[in-house]
Amino acid sequence: MRKTDLVKFKRIFTEQRDQILMNVAVIDENLMVRPEDKDEVDQANADIEQSMRMQLKSRESFTLKKINDSLRRIEDGSYGRCDSCDEYIELRRLQARPTTTLCISCKEEAEKMSASVMLGHRLQLVH
Ligand SMILES: [Zn+2]
Repeated sequence: MRKTDLVKFKRIFTEQRDQILMNVAVIDENLMVRPEDKDEVDQANADIEQSMRMQLKSRESFTLKKINDSLRRIEDGSYGRCDSCDEYIELRRLQARPTTTLCISCKEEAEKMSASVMLGHRLQLVH
């Protein structure tokens, strides 16, 4: 991959990471604002809100992990290569999904496998 492309991806990831860290900070901040005198309905709503925030946070930290992984791959020079076959991943594909670690043919292969695994499960259920 060209150096200018790497620099571009690095900037994208850094910006995304900052955005996520900010989101997580906002989520945490909101969590701390919890008045003590609540009736039961308030409490129930607060519980729902709390679990939604936890879900949001776990999704953010999942994305954050992928972004940090991509940044690490940029540093060690393995970014843009397929994890499975070591071929270069198409730039177009990386632009669409910057955190991807598989080239399109390995990805399709993986999807076919997981589809047949799911199909296998379904067949077992029918039997
Ligand atoms: Zn591949």
